[in-house]
Amino acid sequence: MTSWYCVAAMLLISELETKSNCFRPVIGTVAQPKSRQTQINREVILGSIKSCLNVLFKDKTNVLIKYQKTNTKKGLSLFIVCKFAKKRAFMRIFAVGRNYAEHIQELNNERPDEPIVFTKPDTAVLRNNAPFYYPSFSRDIHHEVELVLRICKEGKNIEEKFASKYYDAIGIGIDFTARDIQTKLKAKSLPWDIAKGFNGSAPISDKFIPVEQFADKNNINFKLEIDGQLKQQGNTNLLLFSFDYIISYLSKFFTLRTGDLIFTGTPKGVGPVTIGNKLTAYIEDEKLLEFEVK
Ligand code: MG
Repeated sequence: MTSWYCVAAMLLISELETKSNCFRPVIGTVAQPKSRQTQINREVILGSIKSCLNVLFKDKTNVLIKYQKTNTKKGLSLFIVCKFAKKRAFMRIFAVGRNYAEHIQELNNERPDEPIVFTKPDTAVLRNNAPFYYPSFSRDIHHEVELVLRICKEGKNIEEKFASKYYDAIGIGIDFTARDIQTKLKAKSLPWDIAKGFNGSAPISDKFIPVEQFADKNNINFKLEIDGQLKQQGNTNLLLFSFDYIISYLSKFFTLRTGDLIFTGTPKGVGPVTIGNKLTAYIEDEKLLEFEVK
């Protein structure tokens, strides 16, 4: 980013700081002298401004930014509209089951024609690498490492070709499953909720990686280690239903809202955890999640 954009962003941010409590749109206009015009890199500018604002206003608001540039006689003008929305107290967590072929085989399940969707309540979420406490109601808690999408825009009935506009970052999480309870419920064709949605069943990385940082969304490696040993390893090129398809499919039934999270399915290698285990999850080679079972 050129120094000009740094100045523009700082001016805008100082204006926003004084107006942010009103939750009304704030319009910032900055003009670039003709003599100093350079090629505008829209994504770089927006990304920089947005990340500054998110740091400044995190916990208070979601910052939504729209951007438009126009050429005028005086030079290039940049119109930036920032909307502040009060952060919702609750997110929804959607999850997709049986989305990697080899995992379907290891549990002797049928390959689905459409994504198998379930949800977890927000009380399932563990953040800050908090420990997972082994629940007393199960003797067979399994780990399922999964990539997690973060929804950045409200939408329903989203066409697959537009789906990528609705998620902006990818994190990693564990879909803990009380396999003993789930197996009994499945045998009776009953809902799985208590086997999947119990307290603490969704540890999620604090850091989410912006989607644009991945060269190819269909070639992302991720893995889970337990006590330093590789237990699960996946790549998004093995997904049965792509991220975009999942977004499109879910949005037929549920309005997706900013802040909602989607677990996208686990690769092969699921298995039990025991008290004392240390779980470490990575996207590519970046360690994003690390916690203990207590
Ligand atoms: Mg799962």
